[in-house]
Amino acid sequence: MKVMKFGGSSLADAPTMEAVGRIVQQAAQNEQVVVVCSAMKGITDKLIQAALAAEDADSTHTEVIRSVREKHERTVGELMDTSDEQEEAAGEVAKLLDELESILHGVELVRECTPRTHDLVMSFGELLSSTLLARFLRSRGVGAKFVDARRMIITDSSHGSAHVDRAETYRRISSIMGTGETIMVVPGFIAADAEGVTTTLGRNGSDFTASLVGAAVAADEVQIWTDVDGIMSADPRSVEQAFVVSELSYEEAMELSYFGAEVIHPYTMLPVVDRGIPIRIKNTMDPEQPGTLISVEGARTERDVTGIASIDNIAIINVEGGGMVGVPGIAHRIFRALASANINIIMISQASSEHTICLALRREEASAAVAALESEFATERKDQTIRQFELQTDLEIVAVIGERMRGKPGVSGRLFGAMGRAGLSVHAIAQGSSERNISFIVAAADRDATLRTVHDAFFGEGTS
Ligand code: ADP
Ligand code: ASP
Ligand code: MG
Repeated sequence: MKVMKFGGSSLADAPTMEAVGRIVQQAAQNEQVVVVCSAMKGITDKLIQAALAAEDADSTHTEVIRSVREKHERTVGELMDTSDEQEEAAGEVAKLLDELESILHGVELVRECTPRTHDLVMSFGELLSSTLLARFLRSRGVGAKFVDARRMIITDSSHGSAHVDRAETYRRISSIMGTGETIMVVPGFIAADAEGVTTTLGRNGSDFTASLVGAAVAADEVQIWTDVDGIMSADPRSVEQAFVVSELSYEEAMELSYFGAEVIHPYTMLPVVDRGIPIRIKNTMDPEQPGTLISVEGARTERDVTGIASIDNIAIINVEGGGMVGVPGIAHRIFRALASANINIIMISQASSEHTICLALRREEASAAVAALESEFATERKDQTIRQFELQTDLEIVAVIGERMRGKPGVSGRLFGAMGRAGLSVHAIAQGSSERNISFIVAAADRDATLRTVHDAFFGEGTS
């Protein structure tokens, strides 16, 4: 069995959906296929925009939904050949969108969009695209059945980015899948809690849906179909010379995606890694390309570095002061204070004098983080043993990732030497003890120059 996930960029309009249809049809000739769909391109953003407008009692949400309706109706018109097929598909689309409009009307009346309702609103993107794709496949004579992910993917109730109950999810998927000849079409990203309330898996979460299904059915392969030829050595929008990395290990893929290579969601690797199921990234508009294979073996090249990625909108907080030297438990208190405020630390670096700990986190969470630290260290702040928390914003984390950096001298030298020669300054550095990753902080304004400089240092002419 094969699981094939198509991202929003592969479900952008009728021509891309036609390409998806051809790929699925061909694969289904040889084996059983489960298709996982994202929302059509740009739709989740529009649904969020509509929810925010409705909550503000701003009536533009009706216009936003009108544009969502038009996009789906136009696609139905272009995809289906007969008027009967068009009518049936349009009827289904209309039914979903009417329901969504009623929900948004409710939001406007109460002027509140709770996280629970926000998840419900977002779920319509995937419900629409997967309903539409299942119908389209049937219109081409391919037996395809829509299966609601909310019957299979079970999470807790943390709306916005819920945690999956993997045991229950696997049990449900195996009881629903595994038999029958037809292709199952499953909406990605959406799930339900134990009470059946709609939840979501976080932005870009459809990749995760695909790997959960793949692990549950012990698929031969999980395929992620997108709009690039595979995982590239850097974000192709910033680095023209970026090239497709043909093979990576699960860990390298996880680190690259965690550090911003959005082509695959970092959680995707978790369910399949224990079972050794390979993930393949493929280009929907160029399916002959070999793509990228993520597996236990990883790359067979001798290059030290596999790829470079970056996360924007970063802030750093420096925790500094004489009161920290040799005092055990400071790091523990920092982590505890931030964890209880639900703040995620992306990177830390500590000077060996123990005088300073530098924390990198998302800009949006920075003020809440400072407040949490102020309250945890109120005593130390009063007696000045810890200085005022210094906050810097407009930063970017850049990470250089590679399984073969481990134990190889000279990688950091090459990296920071190149940065120095290019006149780019580095605010903080951290190296994971796995030595699979060196991450460092630069000014946001230096992002593109940094990516190009580092790419050139490891992959440019004369390097190997
Ligand atoms: P989908 O709609 O298929 O889920 P995404 O937009 O989530 O697609 O991911 C694909 C995009 O990720 C590419 O178009 C590319 O611009 C971007 N990207 C960022 N970093 C990388 C990278 N290292 N390799 C490939 N693509 C990357
Ligand atoms: N549609 C969702 C998003 O835009 C999930 C996904 O595409 O994977 O984030
Ligand atoms: Mg994606």
